[in-house]
Amino acid sequence: MPIDSNFEKSREAVDEEDGVTVWGPVDPPEKLGIHGTHVAVDFDICIADGACLEDCPVDVFSWVDTPDHPESEKKVQPAREDQCIDCMLCVDVCPVDAIDVDPGRAGRV
Ligand code: SF4
Repeated sequence: MPIDSNFEKSREAVDEEDGVTVWGPVDPPEKLGIHGTHVAVDFDICIADGACLEDCPVDVFSWVDTPDHPESEKKVQPAREDQCIDCMLCVDVCPVDAIDVDPGRAGRV
């Protein structure tokens, strides 16, 4: 199942990590939520493929360790989502549709 692009309405902001908002529910290590707002990564879908991190022209993503998560033991944090230029490359290359980018969403404040 792809990331829910309506997460701002269907979820609540429960935390902040590396300067990005975390949208719940969160119950580590199995459930980690959606990280980021303008550039949103569903950590519970991410399989650590890494194509987004390699392809992003402005280096938005950083690896973070997520030991014991059922899908993968690391994830891509959109730590510099404020740098995003909305090229949509990351959305296109993600093999599991874990990323949603929406220029209309504000990102960190
Ligand atoms: S849309 Fe483009 S610039 Fe923005 S995070 Fe994805 S790859 Fe990077």
